[in-house]
Amino acid sequence: MPYIVLGIDGLEYNLAKKWGMKGLLQKYYGKHDVSVIKPLYTPILWSAILVGVDPREHGFSIHDIDRKRAVYGYHPVLRYSYLLLRKITKRKTGLRSLLAKLGLFSYDRIKKGVSDIERMPTELRNLSVIEVLKSRGYKVWVKEFPSYNDEVFSRARLTTIGLTKEKIWKNRFKRIEVYRQYTLRFFQEMMENLDSYDVFFYYTPLIDMAEHVFSRSFDLWGKTRLYRYYREVEQLVVKINSKYPTLIVSDHGFDFKKHTHSDYGFWSVNYTPPFTPKTIFDFKNLILSSVEALNV
Ligand SMILES: [Zn+2]
Repeated sequence: MPYIVLGIDGLEYNLAKKWGMKGLLQKYYGKHDVSVIKPLYTPILWSAILVGVDPREHGFSIHDIDRKRAVYGYHPVLRYSYLLLRKITKRKTGLRSLLAKLGLFSYDRIKKGVSDIERMPTELRNLSVIEVLKSRGYKVWVKEFPSYNDEVFSRARLTTIGLTKEKIWKNRFKRIEVYRQYTLRFFQEMMENLDSYDVFFYYTPLIDMAEHVFSRSFDLWGKTRLYRYYREVEQLVVKINSKYPTLIVSDHGFDFKKHTHSDYGFWSVNYTPPFTPKTIFDFKNLILSSVEALNV
């Protein structure tokens, strides 16, 4: 019988509880602390979940990502002088818009490279629970998982901030809808492969995107909209956790007063867990020991 990991970006403990989402809360649930990792940046948090150690100590910090962004963004002629300048001044140079006009800096190149830019280095990836499971002979299905192999959803992250500033609501909905469709499609793909793999790593950014979008209009209308996305994700979850051992985990929640990520995540399981996860670093072990205990 397969073991399922459902990564639900931004799933907020207090909302899941307040709205009585039993499908998400499952048999055992709680908060886990992510405050040690600042800033609360999505790919770094998911990396911590997968590797069980602090990714920033293994070449995957916001500065590493920033440096890689610069490498992609600048024309090769300028790349190294820029990095050197950055090292000396230790801050942003403010030259970007000028260089962009001259064609020496390009956001498009960053956009094209984002999935490589926001992926953990090989050495760290080898520590991930996914690689450990593979080395132990398990067949692992992993699709569009941040810091590991996301292509579509890494591009989604680039647009999330812009999405909160988009003035026309219709455009906001349109862009969420694109990623809602991916969420449904990849879930379907997982369902079709249940007989062929031992462990599944599924991921959706839908809730996080919706939280960013509705956070500044969190009146009855905004709440109702967000509630619908929560319900829809819950309905997906129920299709799988009614049959298979399932871990639900989020990388952070959402603080609707500060309009940003909260420094705790959510977890729940539908079986008796070998131990209770307390921090973001506990999930690698939780997955490994669960797979063993459940005889996957
Ligand atoms: Zn996130």
